[in-house]
Amino acid sequence: MSGSTARLRAIEAVNTYVPLNEPLNFSETSARELFGANVFNATVMKARLPKQVYTSLQRTIETGSSLDPALADVVANAMKDWAIEKGATHYAHVFYPLTGATAEKHDSFLSPDGSGGALAEFAGKTLIQGEPDASSFPNGGIRATFEARGYTAWDVTSPAYILENPNGTTLCIPTAFVSWTGEALDKKTPLLRSMQALDKQARRVLEVFGHEDPAKVFAFAGPEQEYFLVDRNFYFARPDLLSAGRTLFGAPPPKGQEFDDHYFGAIPERVLAFMLDCERELFKLGIPVKTRHNEVAPGQFEVAPVFESANLATDHQQLMMVTLQRMAQKHGMACLMHEKPFAGVNGSGKHVNFSLGNATQGNLLDPGDTPHANAQFLVFCAAVIRAVHKHAGLLRAVIASASNDHRLGANEAPPAIISIFLGEQLTDVFDQIAKGGATSSKEGGTLTVGVDTLPGLPKDAGDRNRTSPFAFTGNRFEFRAVGSSQSIAGPLVAMNTILAESLDAIATELEAAVAEDPDELNAAVQKVIEQIMANHGAVVFNGDGYSDAWHAEAEERGLPNLRTTVDALPVLASDEVVSLFESYGVLSKREIHSRLEVYLEQYVLAVQVEAKTAVEMARTVIYPSAVRYLGELATTARTLDKLDLSFESATLEDAVTLASRLEGEIAALESELAKEPGENLQLEAEHCKDGILPAMVALRETADSLEGLVADDLWPLATYQEMLFIK
Ligand code: ADP
Ligand code: MG
Repeated sequence: MSGSTARLRAIEAVNTYVPLNEPLNFSETSARELFGANVFNATVMKARLPKQVYTSLQRTIETGSSLDPALADVVANAMKDWAIEKGATHYAHVFYPLTGATAEKHDSFLSPDGSGGALAEFAGKTLIQGEPDASSFPNGGIRATFEARGYTAWDVTSPAYILENPNGTTLCIPTAFVSWTGEALDKKTPLLRSMQALDKQARRVLEVFGHEDPAKVFAFAGPEQEYFLVDRNFYFARPDLLSAGRTLFGAPPPKGQEFDDHYFGAIPERVLAFMLDCERELFKLGIPVKTRHNEVAPGQFEVAPVFESANLATDHQQLMMVTLQRMAQKHGMACLMHEKPFAGVNGSGKHVNFSLGNATQGNLLDPGDTPHANAQFLVFCAAVIRAVHKHAGLLRAVIASASNDHRLGANEAPPAIISIFLGEQLTDVFDQIAKGGATSSKEGGTLTVGVDTLPGLPKDAGDRNRTSPFAFTGNRFEFRAVGSSQSIAGPLVAMNTILAESLDAIATELEAAVAEDPDELNAAVQKVIEQIMANHGAVVFNGDGYSDAWHAEAEERGLPNLRTTVDALPVLASDEVVSLFESYGVLSKREIHSRLEVYLEQYVLAVQVEAKTAVEMARTVIYPSAVRYLGELATTARTLDKLDLSFESATLEDAVTLASRLEGEIAALESELAKEPGENLQLEAEHCKDGILPAMVALRETADSLEGLVADDLWPLATYQEMLFIK
């Protein structure tokens, strides 16, 4: 079957697609009943555990006190009985390796009973700790392969759940993954550590504001996931989508997103059926999905859950990505999580909404209604400003990946420059405070922060800014530069830790001032905010982040502009970042270096796979179709010539030029791939950026020109128009 036949078949398959014959019925089982049905949550625990055990476990979950190991057997047993009632045959420790994916190792509950039968067993120690063979997970040199041991440790704060499969179910237990020396090999361990650091420092600030013994402070996250859906028939007809997750070739379609007619438009029937299926599965897993809509690009959609504690939100986000992919398959589609699957239309991000708060004071980034709350809010808000300015490079580094590079800093999407959008009103408040100083200046029209005197602040930050990588949106910050395929753990670890550092510095100053004289709080707060705005106010930018003028201005302001992953990743190992993470017990120097290695390697591998795929497609798919077309044209020319009919064909000339250029560019890309820039991963990554990627761009340009020239029935690859618009 020639390539173009495959394309026609794909179109036909889409056209004759029959929806699944098993409609969901939310009126039979209501969403409310479904919600959390497969989760070993507080309600289930309360019903199944002895009261004392339940209370003790809840205390661990709510206050972070350490787990009493004696409880494990009781909990494990209850968990096992519950899971088996739900049809589970196996349990799995689920963990989150540095690849950003989710890993799980399944074990059966059954053990031989010694007399030919079997027992269902699940001991406390199996719940608490697992030992998967970890040698194949990236560890960046922390663990030599001969000491492959890695341990998974039960994360009590993220509930166990049942994952369904048509042929059985599995009890899944979220875990942290560490080496036998206790070093983090995963994304969860530092996240838990960073939440602890943030809690400690945030509570110090709350205490200065007079809250006695404040409740544990949590970081909260609400990630908005953007994704593309394409029919599976097209997906399989595109080797690039299959192995790189994005199209490496493809001319822009006559109609793209310029009409803006897709955004928030009616959701196509098949897509809605898919969304409902996803939501049903996610509800069962206790994932509070809330919002669904079309996104800007054709074929692009978004789903967002209600925010949760950062750790839970991260686990749920991972489950959500897996579920989207699984359900897309069920509905005959592929869900593309890549940040830039199609050139020329919008890419996909994962906006991470971030806030912090606790049971007693609520959301600490909420301006509140009273001046007193306002002053406290301004302090937390100023802490974010200081943190983001001081560690802009780190924030850029934790969202760096080969795929996100096509989105950040390119000519669309948030730029690689990390700045904060505060909105007009809030910016004005901070500006006034910055100009403040003496209390008397109030008459001069300048606002002085007084814990008791500050007027009410606007709750609505006013306008939205879609071009800012980091925006205040009324009661939270939205980190918009995070990529759609990324785990949100990295960004959250960075946010928690840099904020912990800022709050630490602020608490230290305020504590000292108040210790001398409790009445000094007002003045001290004023001074702290004034200083922060003087030293870090440069990071606030409310204008158009996409404009060239901003690039120039940002440079003047001294804000880093780390355009690519290769520029950004080394920040991870800078003295500043190492000392930050070490000071707050989040990551050791060795752990950081291992991460840098892993991420550089992932970048190099991603680019190499793309380049190899591009070479293969260009040589075995695109070049042959160009040559076939050339042959047709040449034959026609010869035939006409014999009939004494002159056939001047510019197309023929163009086709000859482009085909031979394509051949040259394939060779050029191959020779870039063959180069060995050195053992050092940084050098390899630089070569990917400066050697391989530009060669791929050149090759693509020629291939895309050929797509616009070659007869459509000879063109083998599904086109942008087909992939984006045929559902
Ligand atoms: P928009 O597209 O307007 O930004 P969405 O409703 O799509 O808004 O997504 C907003 C996300 O922010 C949701 O996940 C929501 O739960 C989350 N969110 C709301 N309040 C907070 C908060 N205080 N902290 C963290 N996330 C929040
Ligand atoms: Mg948003």
